[in-house]
Amino acid sequence: MSEIHYFDSHAHIMAEEYKDDFEEMLKRAEDAHVDRIMIITLSHEETMRAIEFAKRDPERYQVAAGIFPEDVKDVTEEDWQIFEKTAADPAVTCIGEIGLDYYWEKDPQIRSLQREFFVRQIELAKALHKPYLVHSRDAVQDTFDIMKEHGGHGLLHCYSGTKEMAREFVKLGFYIALGGALTFKNARHAVEVCADIDENYLLSETDCPYMAPVPLRGKRNEPSYIPYIVRKMAEVRNVSEEYMAEVIDRNWTRFLEEYR
Ligand SMILES: [Zn+2]
Repeated sequence: MSEIHYFDSHAHIMAEEYKDDFEEMLKRAEDAHVDRIMIITLSHEETMRAIEFAKRDPERYQVAAGIFPEDVKDVTEEDWQIFEKTAADPAVTCIGEIGLDYYWEKDPQIRSLQREFFVRQIELAKALHKPYLVHSRDAVQDTFDIMKEHGGHGLLHCYSGTKEMAREFVKLGFYIALGGALTFKNARHAVEVCADIDENYLLSETDCPYMAPVPLRGKRNEPSYIPYIVRKMAEVRNVSEEYMAEVIDRNWTRFLEEYR
């Protein structure tokens, strides 16, 4: 049997939650055969640290940089210019996470600002020829409308919409990443999406340190828990875990490379 390779398309491993056991956490991921990790960074400082760290093994660790929807109201024009420069750094593989969060943001003016920054960052990703990673919460229709209009190449992280909507995203060529929520008892949507989606558009993620999968729900999450998610995907789709992992690994390679 060939060895299974897993990957984590969404990991905040530069977060302070890992400062006490960073190396051990990486070692556990390695031991679990989680061979590729996309490091999501939410500030300039974090991005710089991730770029420095990823030099250790650029095949294994890649970096995404983005202005998170909840942060848009504090972004100055100078911040934007710095971000534009960082985003163009060859060590930054993807733009993200970017998008809309109407769950936490109720103010219509700030929601509108979120849409503005979402569009700006999609356009930047397109200009740089890089894929983008989308955060969307309670905003699936606006997210869809913007992605449909502006295109580019991207994925929906921690997708929580319906399977019908997932089909529409896939029709436009966007990928769907599922994580710990898939293993939760009340995760009806995620399970339906996982069962229904074209397998060539399915990706795995932890969103660590949040969203730890069952049976570790409520604990700090980390990349080494990816096998729990892939196992659940395999169960939902009624295929072997080996097969599921292989498909997802292939999808990730295609997602990163088809746009270069
Ligand atoms: Zn995230």
